[in-house]
Amino acid sequence: MDCIFCKIVNGEIPNNTVYEDDRVLAFYDIEPKAPVHVLVIPKQHLRGADAVCEENASVVAHIFTVIPQIASKLGLTDYRVVTNNGADAGQTVHHLHFHILGGRTLGEMG
Ligand code: AMP
Ligand code: ZN
Repeated sequence: MDCIFCKIVNGEIPNNTVYEDDRVLAFYDIEPKAPVHVLVIPKQHLRGADAVCEENASVVAHIFTVIPQIASKLGLTDYRVVTNNGADAGQTVHHLHFHILGGRTLGEMG
C-alpha cells in the first residue's frame, strides 16, 4: 500500500521518533504548525477516524494513554490533540494520526 505513514512504520522513510511501542509510533511533524508538533499513529493502517470500530478501538484508547506521557516528556502542560478526517477537514495523509500541538498559546479552533 502506498501510504507514507506505513513507510515510516516500516523504516522505509526516516522519522524523528518521540515514542514507540509495539502498537504506536510518535514522531515530529515535518512541517510543524506550533513550537511542539508531534504526530501519534497506530502502527496498524487505519485510514482515519471513520475507520475506528469496536474491533480496533483499543489502539485508539492506548494512543490516548500515550499522549499525556509524550506531552509530559516534552514539557507540555497545555496542548491540543487534533485528528482530521477527510480532505475537507484537512486530512492529507490517509493513515489515522493524532496531532499534538503545543508550546505556544493556541488560537480558537477554526
Ligand atoms: P493531516 O493534514 O492532518 O493529514 O496531517 C498530516 C501531517 O503529516 C502534516 O502535518 C504533515 O506536515 C505531516 N507529514 C507529512 N509527511 C511527513 C513525514 N515524512 N514526516 C513527518 N510528518 C509528515
Ligand atoms: Zn498507512
